[in-house]
Amino acid sequence: MRRCPLCESEGRMIYKLNTLIVLQCPSDGMRYVSWRGIRKCDLWEKLVGDVNFSSVEKVYDKNRKAYFAEANAKVKKIQGMLAVPSPRSLDVGAGCGFFVFSARKNGWQAEGIEPDEILAGYAMRKLGVELLRMRFEEVKELGTFDVITLWGVIEHIERPLAALRQVSVMLREGGIVALQMPTADSLYDAVAAALYRLSLGLCRTPVGLLYSANHINRFSPGTIAEALLKAGLEVCGIERAGSDPEILADTYGKWGRKLISRSIISFLDRISRLIGRSNQIRVYARKKNR
Ligand SMILES: [Zn+2]
Repeated sequence: MRRCPLCESEGRMIYKLNTLIVLQCPSDGMRYVSWRGIRKCDLWEKLVGDVNFSSVEKVYDKNRKAYFAEANAKVKKIQGMLAVPSPRSLDVGAGCGFFVFSARKNGWQAEGIEPDEILAGYAMRKLGVELLRMRFEEVKELGTFDVITLWGVIEHIERPLAALRQVSVMLREGGIVALQMPTADSLYDAVAAALYRLSLGLCRTPVGLLYSANHINRFSPGTIAEALLKAGLEVCGIERAGSDPEILADTYGKWGRKLISRSIISFLDRISRLIGRSNQIRVYARKKNR
């Protein structure tokens, strides 16, 4: 059984799904996934088995403008926190390369690493951005950076604290780490939890959208701040970000259910933004000066 990724305590089960259980740490409230009688790599294979270049291309081409706008806004926001005019940056899990592209456009010396061949292929073919094909465990040799970004990465990592400590080592003093992740205090979580409890654990699909073999850590603003602090990084800003309802629905819906799930998710997304409980947060933290 997996232990709390923040403090190694034994977690208490809060949801029981088909192949996974979701646990909550009694001491710090961290929520995370552990597997039931199946190896994690088998689950992962099943999950990514039907992803191919054309499905990726379809989604990213369709939402291209939005991805460029979002990446550019992130670059500008981080630039405002830095004294360095042309920072050296590393985007970890750079995906299709939109952030690296925007950072370079803004005069940064930007690098990105992406282990996935299909995503890195998109970055190269469509944006002309060459990403380094390496895993995070191998990045030590790249030197130090003013900015390290992990957009939609930390929720996938089995040992997130070790990853943040590695980030901290690679950041220059006063440097910024920026992360985006789904958050446990979202409206989605509240609705999914209510449905699960009211149905005595029978209604699992909504909870299953939030926790998978893919999304194994569900931080909240409190638990991510604690994790960063343990790694020697001090939070200097947290903001809410919406989820990507199109992609969520594209991924999880099937045939007739697609329309329904898309409508429900879009509706929930709109409400959750209005009340400040959207599905994702962006967190900015600074490496403390010694
Ligand atoms: Zn804990």
